[in-house]
Amino acid sequence: MNTIVDLRSDTVTRPTPAMRQAMFDAEVGDDVFGDDPTVTALQERIAAMTGKEAALYMPTGTQSNLCGLLAHCQRGDEYIVGQLAHTYRYEGGGAAVLGSIQPQPLLQDAQGRMALADIANAIKPDDAHFARTRLLCLENTWNGHVMPHDYLTAAAALARAQGLAVHLDGARVFNAAVANAGEGGDAVAALRRITDVFDSVSVCFSKGLGAPMGSALCGSKELIARAHRIRKMTGGGLRQAGVVAAAALYALDKHVERLQQDHAMAQRLAAGLQGLPGLSVRSAQTNIVFLDVTEGRGPALLAYLKDAGVLATGMIGLRFVTHLDVDAAGIDRAIAAIRAFAQQP
Ligand SMILES: *Cc1c(COP(=O)(O)O)cnc(C)c1O
Repeated sequence: MNTIVDLRSDTVTRPTPAMRQAMFDAEVGDDVFGDDPTVTALQERIAAMTGKEAALYMPTGTQSNLCGLLAHCQRGDEYIVGQLAHTYRYEGGGAAVLGSIQPQPLLQDAQGRMALADIANAIKPDDAHFARTRLLCLENTWNGHVMPHDYLTAAAALARAQGLAVHLDGARVFNAAVANAGEGGDAVAALRRITDVFDSVSVCFSKGLGAPMGSALCGSKELIARAHRIRKMTGGGLRQAGVVAAAALYALDKHVERLQQDHAMAQRLAAGLQGLPGLSVRSAQTNIVFLDVTEGRGPALLAYLKDAGVLATGMIGLRFVTHLDVDAAGIDRAIAAIRAFAQQP
């Protein structure tokens, strides 16, 4: 029994025994020669699910986004992106460093949306003064927030009317799809409705889906062929990767619909934290709960929780992420520990 309730991220999950068995049983080959049947099956599967012609398995989401950005943009081109978006803020500036692509970051609202008027104003005219604006990059979910479908379609239409392509950083797009589908709904149809808006989509297998590693970039054959060269250039050519691709295939079969449970656990946590002195739940969307802590007591709460065997992240506001390896008993332990902290004299 795991006695730690680890809510730092949905990346902390361990492969289940059944997932490990699928990995054990995987047929493999050298994927640099295109010989790994499990990688090929995964790429075909995720391309079909996202409604794209092709897909490429990647070690990480950062590499998947990077290969996507570099496949869309040339040196000196520009991409429009949220000020707090992962590709801009949390990927080491890779598009600029390795692709000489200029980011044009824009402010986002509390749900992660850039204003449509700001996007329109940021698209530069064809003039020697300006970088060529080539791409709009959105993220869904963003900090757990599901982007409203009308927003996605309006932003994409605006970008396309000016000749831009549109990329989705969909590290947690399965959470968005499951939330949109609702209880008992068709998550794969909901996924497809989102991905149809985009030219390219990066999805992650190692977050809510619970695989030990891997992401995939999905798009047209032409785009994926360019991304393939860039993946090789950035050191991402893989050999018998079927061992890990098998975990992702297993997750696509067994771990999509169950994301609903993670969302229910986030709601359970948020409900249990209502009305506590000095604490307020700022947001609890899909599988992520943010808790604001007054008077600079965030680090003290974090340390208190750690002593109680409950792990989270953050400073002023704490972040709790639900996943495959946390159940209702774990959530209740987290609630009890946070309540005990709040009610200390
Ligand atoms: C985690 C994450 C990534 C990057 O994935 P890594 O596998 O950690 O490189 C990209 N975008 C978003 C929104 C993420 O949450």
